[in-house]
Amino acid sequence: MAHRRARDVKMTRSIQLKTPRQLRHMRSAGKIVAEVLALLGEHTVPGATTAELDALAEAEIKKRKAVPSFKGYHGFPCTICASVNEQVVHGIPSKYRLREGDILSVDVGAIYSGWHGDAAVTYAIGSASAEAERVMHATREALRRGIAAAVPGNHLGDIGFAIQSWVEAQGLAVIRDFVGHGIGKVMHEAPQVPNFGDAGEGLELRAGMTIAIEPMVALGDWRVKVLDDGWTAVTADGSLSAHYEHSIVITEAGPEILTKVA
Ligand code: MG
Repeated sequence: MAHRRARDVKMTRSIQLKTPRQLRHMRSAGKIVAEVLALLGEHTVPGATTAELDALAEAEIKKRKAVPSFKGYHGFPCTICASVNEQVVHGIPSKYRLREGDILSVDVGAIYSGWHGDAAVTYAIGSASAEAERVMHATREALRRGIAAAVPGNHLGDIGFAIQSWVEAQGLAVIRDFVGHGIGKVMHEAPQVPNFGDAGEGLELRAGMTIAIEPMVALGDWRVKVLDDGWTAVTADGSLSAHYEHSIVITEAGPEILTKVA
C-alpha cells in the first residue's frame, strides 16, 4: 500500500534499523505476501470479480497464520487493493468483473509475528494491449532499477532518480502524490521513499533499513485524483497506470527482496 504524502501524520520519525531476528520475521511476512500475490495471479482472469480475489487473499493470509494489514487501516475496508486500468492505487475490491484487456494492480499486505510485508503486482487480464504492456514493463523495470540503487552509502534520492529517469526516458510519467515508505512493526514507517528525486540527495542509506519501493507510473500525465470513496486514486486524465512494489532490506551485500517466494 502506498503512503499518501502529508496524510499519514502517524509515520514514525526515526529510522528503525532491523536486527537479524527481526529480519527473519520480516522474511516470513514477505514470503506470505509473495505467495498470496502469486496465487492471485492465477485467478486474475476475465469474469472474476475483484471481491472474489479479496476473499481469496484474506483466506490465504489467515491460513498462513498472518493478519491482513490493509483491512481497517485508516478505515480501508478490504484485504487487498485492486486497482483497474486508470486506477493507480488503493482501489476497493467490488463486484466489478474483470474483462479481457483490463490491467489490474493488486497490492497485498500481511503481518506475521508483528512484522509487516507489503508488495504489489500489475496483472494483465487475458491479453494486454501494446500500451498496457508498455506501461507495465516500464514500471516493472523501474522497480528493478530502484531496488538496485538501494545500497549502503547511496541516498534516498538515488532510488527516486533511478526510477524517474528511466520512466521519463520511456515517455511515461511518475505519480507524485503517493510514495514508498519504511516498513517494519508498522506498515508505513519513516522514511518516505519517493519515486522521483535527485541523485545523491536525501537520507543516506544504511544496512538494516527496510523499505517498500513502489513505483506508480501513468501512460499520460502524473496528476491523480481520489474518488468519492475516499480511497481510489485515478489518473486525472484517465490514462492507464501500473504499480509494482517490493519490501526490501538494505544489506552490506546489496538489496535483498523480502517479498519473494523463497
Ligand atoms: Mg507500500
